[in-house]
Amino acid sequence: MTLTAAPTTPHGGPGLPQVRRLATAIPGPRSAEILQRKAAAVPAGVGHTVPIAAVAAGGGVVVDADGNSLIDLGSGIAVTTVGSAHPKVVEAIAAQAAQFTHTCFMISPYESYIAVAEVLNRLTPGDHEKKTALFNSGAEAVENAVKIARKHTGRPAVVAFDHGYHGRTNLTMALTAKSMPYKSGFGPFAPEIYRAPASYPLRDGLTGPEAAARTLSLIEKQIGAENLAAVVIEPIQGEGGFIVPADGFLPAVADWCRDNDVVFIADEVQSGFARTGAMFASELFGIVPDLVTTAKGIAGGMPLAAVTGRADIMDAAHAGGLGGTYGGNPVACAAALAALDAFENDGLIERAQQIERVLVDRLGALAAADDRIGEVRGRGAMMAVEFVDPAAGAPDAALTGAVAKACLADGVIVLTCGTYGNVIRFLPPLSIPDALLHEGIDVVASALAAR
Ligand SMILES: *Cc1c(COP(=O)(O)O)cnc(C)c1O
Repeated sequence: MTLTAAPTTPHGGPGLPQVRRLATAIPGPRSAEILQRKAAAVPAGVGHTVPIAAVAAGGGVVVDADGNSLIDLGSGIAVTTVGSAHPKVVEAIAAQAAQFTHTCFMISPYESYIAVAEVLNRLTPGDHEKKTALFNSGAEAVENAVKIARKHTGRPAVVAFDHGYHGRTNLTMALTAKSMPYKSGFGPFAPEIYRAPASYPLRDGLTGPEAAARTLSLIEKQIGAENLAAVVIEPIQGEGGFIVPADGFLPAVADWCRDNDVVFIADEVQSGFARTGAMFASELFGIVPDLVTTAKGIAGGMPLAAVTGRADIMDAAHAGGLGGTYGGNPVACAAALAALDAFENDGLIERAQQIERVLVDRLGALAAADDRIGEVRGRGAMMAVEFVDPAAGAPDAALTGAVAKACLADGVIVLTCGTYGNVIRFLPPLSIPDALLHEGIDVVASALAAR
């Protein structure tokens, strides 16, 4: 066994031929061999969705060890929003790696971390004074936002929501709603986490103000504002099913938090950075969160995460209370500065809006002709289709899984999500050419038509 991939290993980045090409069945023999080694060397708990071994990615494709070129409608879960191996990101990483790879920001600070903080302070919603701390993962950012909110308020309780997803660490498992696969068997979970219903227009039939009244009454009766440090919510819920709350829900919850000195934390780990056709999804709903957590798309694929928020709240933690060995690693910060420059200056917000128009048109036409599609929803390049049994409206996870599997076999990477496993999400990199996006949707449409 050797580590070398096929001799014709292509280079990633936008120069990669933008084609769907099936050289073998999926997985091909090279990928199958590598995945066999995975099964022997890596625990089963670390699963995978697409049975390939990737060797290159860029534009709108992922290429595997057998030379298959798959259309990417997942962006590695909303991470490669600027595209994989974006030239500016690659150049920034190489230059920084040659300078220094680590000093530990808590030992010897460096300018790039501070520059990332300055950009995030400027770009996140609201023109109040802000500060930013950097971490390694979305879960770590959410954990730290909760730490900061508790220290600031001196209160213990935290509210999370039905269908919410915030990560896989102990505290974030407690915040996450879905048991299987995220929590089952991994308890006991952190205390003082309470779950409230949010807004799921397709399934609860409530207006935004009605849903907010239900949420806030539960919070007041079962927890009490005087015990509550923070409310943690994804403006558009991600893993839970790309659920867009009804108009008025988020502003009502945010107003209540302000009136009661409860810290409103928007978890924009998935929805942030141009993904929804705005720099942050909070803007789409007219809310200004106290704290915003970000990660995923922030650094073009490098591990980096942030908590950005009101300076007085962020400053509540004592010196040494926040941080970590790697948080704000200089190579990740260099990548983030390049990616953030692309988000701001390369028209990526407009690109996400264009992708929304294509997805709304095409998926809307599919839904009009097929009553197994219960709803098409989302914003920007974060759109989804929820599959139902047309008679009862019940979630149809079997159909969803079968369509996703057929797409993979036909060279298109699609991801599923949803509490009921009945949602296919569309998260293409913003670098995907239109022709590939259309071809990807064609494949989804034929996979559905065949079932
Ligand atoms: C992915 C995700 C997280 C967790 O991020 P990791 O980097 O996987 O720890 C948290 N919140 C939301 C909304 C996410 O989508």
